[in-house]
Amino acid sequence: MLFTSHCAGCNEPGPLLCHRCRFSLAAAPSQAPAPGVHAALPFDGVARQVVLSLKYRNRRRLARHLARLMVRRGGIGRVDVVTWAPTSARHVRARGFDQAELLAKAVARELRVPCRRLLYRAHGAVPQTGRSREERLHGPSFRARPPRDGLRILLVDDVVTTGATLAAARDALLEAGIGEVVCLAAAATPAGRAQSARPAQPRTVAMAGSGSSSTSTARMPTPAAARTLESTSSRKAVRPASAPSLLKAS
Ligand SMILES: [Zn+2]
Repeated sequence: MLFTSHCAGCNEPGPLLCHRCRFSLAAAPSQAPAPGVHAALPFDGVARQVVLSLKYRNRRRLARHLARLMVRRGGIGRVDVVTWAPTSARHVRARGFDQAELLAKAVARELRVPCRRLLYRAHGAVPQTGRSREERLHGPSFRARPPRDGLRILLVDDVVTTGATLAAARDALLEAGIGEVVCLAAAATPAGRAQSARPAQPRTVAMAGSGSSSTSTARMPTPAAARTLESTSSRKAVRPASAPSLLKAS
């Protein structure tokens, strides 16, 4: 049989995701990278290749597969609206789409709730990679456009590396008056390991787990992110923490 496509997980000729890689995703453990943040997959091995394929290789149909895993494993509970932490305008222009938006829309479809854009980058043209290490550790700045009060919002992102982006986005929503924010990502860097958030070679899919490139993003320590989110949570002590409902899942 002739295949015109390759598996996003292992690069073997075949469907979008071969049986072996589907099994590998199903067997990969979910992650709780920081208090109140849940991720369906470790940013590692096949899962990492799949997320990178969505993000950098324009394989948008993967969003639906990832969204199903996110909903199944996220322990989300009832949410009123799904939104996302928007990618920088420069990256959206370069890729032609915002992978976080694609995931948020797919997750909203799975949950049968509306997906709304509630967040904007305060410095839209400046991606994380163009900022200083200190700025990156504190995350990008977001402005939030709140819907009506009292909503429980599901905030979606693709990959959690330091956690700074989700923390900044969540802060912006809470400061805009959102009642509660639940954070859910497709993947998170496994504890104690730093993985590049970019593919080693944009057009070559490496076999699972062989990615070894290092970028400034990969060097950012995960514990710093945990501290960022913890300090954020404690500042927002009056707000109901969503961690328990997330952490008890799967
Ligand atoms: Zn495969």
